[in-house]
Amino acid sequence: MRALTFLARRFVAGDTIDEAVEAVRVLNRDGLKATLDNLGEETKTREEAESACREYVAALRKIAEAEADCNISLKLTQFGLNLDESLARDNLARVLEEARKLGNFARIDMEGSDYTQKTLDLFYSLFPEPFANVGVVIQSALRRSEQDVAELVRRKARVRLVKGAYKEPAGIAFQKKSEVDENYDRLAAMLVKAPMPAFGTHDDRRIAGAVSAARAAGLAKTDYEIQMLYGVRPKRWRELAREGHRVRVYVPYGTHWLPYYSRRIRERKENLFFALRGIFSD
Ligand SMILES: Cc1cc2nc3c(=O)[nH]c(=O)nc-3n(C[C@H](O)[C@H](O)[C@H](O)COP(=O)(O)OP(=O)(O)OC[C@H]3O[C@@H](n4cnc5c(N)ncnc54)[C@H](O)[C@@H]3O)c2cc1C
Repeated sequence: MRALTFLARRFVAGDTIDEAVEAVRVLNRDGLKATLDNLGEETKTREEAESACREYVAALRKIAEAEADCNISLKLTQFGLNLDESLARDNLARVLEEARKLGNFARIDMEGSDYTQKTLDLFYSLFPEPFANVGVVIQSALRRSEQDVAELVRRKARVRLVKGAYKEPAGIAFQKKSEVDENYDRLAAMLVKAPMPAFGTHDDRRIAGAVSAARAAGLAKTDYEIQMLYGVRPKRWRELAREGHRVRVYVPYGTHWLPYYSRRIRERKENLFFALRGIFSD
C-alpha cells in the first residue's frame, strides 16, 4: 500500500488544501489555470457528505486568500447523491453560494451512468437560476451524449467534454475507442456554440479537432479551455499555454485517492509505473 501511495503521488497534489493550493500556485506561475478536486465519491453517511461540502467551502476560501487562478470540481456522490438527492442538492447549493460570493465557479464532474440523468437533473434545477456559476461534464463514450449536448447548448451551459472514465455496457456506450473518439470530435464541434467550452483530454488529435472547430466558429484562443489532469503530460500543458491557449489543470488532493488512481491505471497501464520510469514527461 505504501508503494501505491508513492506512485499515486504523481497524480495527487497532496493530502491537504494547503498542499493543493501550493501546487496551484506553481501552475499559475507558469500561466496555467487550475481546478481543485477534493478526492471522494459514493459517501456512506450524511455526515461524510456534509463534511465534503464544508471542505469545498474551505477550499474556496483558501483559493480566494491565495488569489489563485483556480475553480473547483466536485462529484455529486461525494455530496450524498447516492443517499438522498435533496441532501446532494443542499450541499451543492451551499458550495455554489460561497463560490458566487467569492466570484468563483464550480464544475460538476460526471460519474458512472447510474448518475448521468440525476446529475443533469440536479444541474438543470440550479442553472442558470439561482446559480449561473456552475457547469457540468459530458462523456463522449455515452450514446445519449449528443442529445444531452444539444440541450446543454440550447441552455447556454458551460460544459467540459471528456471521453469518460467509467466502464459502461454496450447498450448505452460506445465500446470501440474509434467510436468514442469520433463522437468526441462531433460533440466538440457542437459545443463551440456554448459559452467557454472545455475540452478535457490528453489526446492531441482530439485537441486539434476541437481547436479547429473553435476557430471555424470564430472563437479566439481565450474563448475555450483545454483541460488536462495533474501529473499527465505536464510539458504539453506548458506548450499549449505558450501557444496562447487557456489551459486548466485538474488538481486532485486528499486521502481518498484509490478510485481516482484506479481509473488512471485502467486508462493507461503505464500509469502504474511511470513515476518510477519517468516515461510520461511529454
Ligand atoms: C480535466 C479532465 C477532467 C475529467 N473529468 C472527468 C469526469 O468528470 N468524468 C469522467 O468520466 N472522466 C473525466 N475525465 C477522464 C476522461 O474521461 C478520460 O478517462 C481521460 O482523460 C483519458 O482519456 P484521454 O482523453 O486523455 O484519451 P486516451 O484515449 O486515454 O488517450 C489518447 C491519447 O492521448 C495521449 N495520452 C494520454 N495519456 C497520456 C500520457 N499519460 N502521456 C502521454 N500521452 C498520453 C496518447 O497519445 C494517447 O494515445 C477527465 C479528464 C480530464 C483531462
